[in-house]
Amino acid sequence: MKTPVDIAVTGAAGQISYSLLFRLAAGDLLGPDQPIVLRLLEIPSAMEALKAIVMELNDCAFHLLHKIIITDNPKVAFDNVDYAFLVGARPRTHGMLRSDLLSQNAEIFIVQGQALNEVASRDVKVLVTGNPANTNAYLALNKAPDLAPECFAAMTMLDHTRAISQLAEKCGVPSRDVKNVMVWGNHSCMQYPDLHHARVKGQAALSLVDDQWFVNEYIPTIQHRGTEVIKARGQSSAASAANAIIRHMTTWIQGTEEGDWVSMAVPSDGSYGIEPGLIYSFPVTVSNGQYHIVKGLDLNAFSLERLKQNEVELIEERQAVRHLL
Ligand code: NDP
Repeated sequence: MKTPVDIAVTGAAGQISYSLLFRLAAGDLLGPDQPIVLRLLEIPSAMEALKAIVMELNDCAFHLLHKIIITDNPKVAFDNVDYAFLVGARPRTHGMLRSDLLSQNAEIFIVQGQALNEVASRDVKVLVTGNPANTNAYLALNKAPDLAPECFAAMTMLDHTRAISQLAEKCGVPSRDVKNVMVWGNHSCMQYPDLHHARVKGQAALSLVDDQWFVNEYIPTIQHRGTEVIKARGQSSAASAANAIIRHMTTWIQGTEEGDWVSMAVPSDGSYGIEPGLIYSFPVTVSNGQYHIVKGLDLNAFSLERLKQNEVELIEERQAVRHLL
């Protein structure tokens, strides 16, 4: 039997975690012969709910689930972890200003960044899902100076898979026939799903669909898909978000397919004129457990304007929390 791998999940009693934890325990991340320890972080008021989830996890008798640790202390949750899923975040409540949402979440991610810095494995992969995900990841990374910036990413994988699926549906093909879709920028309604390099069965996507559809239907559909799910379900997407979390992390571990890329929000290295250090969604390839921003793509004026809008929004978010750093 292999040595168990430690995995931390924050917001472990939340909706997304309710799907995510069972998939992790079933081996969907690390495969059918890798035992895991789940280290689950929650706030004290959610501990009772978390205990119920632990009962359910135990009831499944998962072969790979070596141990479950529950805690409200980030240093316990992140102790020696190789993978950290930062899912928990304070939701926006009625009357709350965006700046309040940003600073309340900032406090959480600053503490978690410091704890990761102190106790996580030096090769940890930290995936931030809790919103505002890009800025939360920016804060955690900046509070973890002893970890490489490349240990951090924020999730735009659900936006990416939505972008694949909507194009596949339009073209009447299975999702696997769609390649090189990308989502730029912030995980917000500003995000830019870009089809200029996408291919459907090897053909340029924009030669198969109408330009008006791309601009007036496709882009807004991806940008507002989360709101549409809430309208239809009465709650935000959870199973699809958990699936995207698993897909992001397996891609980060196993690598991208030859000739394709995925979207990940990662520290900008100045590519495409985006301010270095911002956590910005780029097309990336992954090899040997490291992501690499895809360089040198031709971007037209339409795309460049949208990239800029996302950069401005992220700079504004950073400005709102800078005093906390
Ligand atoms: P969910 O599990 O539904 O969502 C968790 C976070 O993921 C939210 O910030 C949510 O943003 C975000 N998210 C990012 N992408 C997506 C997506 N595509 N679809 C849906 N959500 C997405 O939230 P719950 O409120 O059910 O659970 C949160 C848990 O976190 C609670 O158990 C709570 O106790 C815990 N918590 C922990 C804190 C801490 O660690 N200190 C602080 C506050 C809460 P959005 O809200 O925009 O949907």
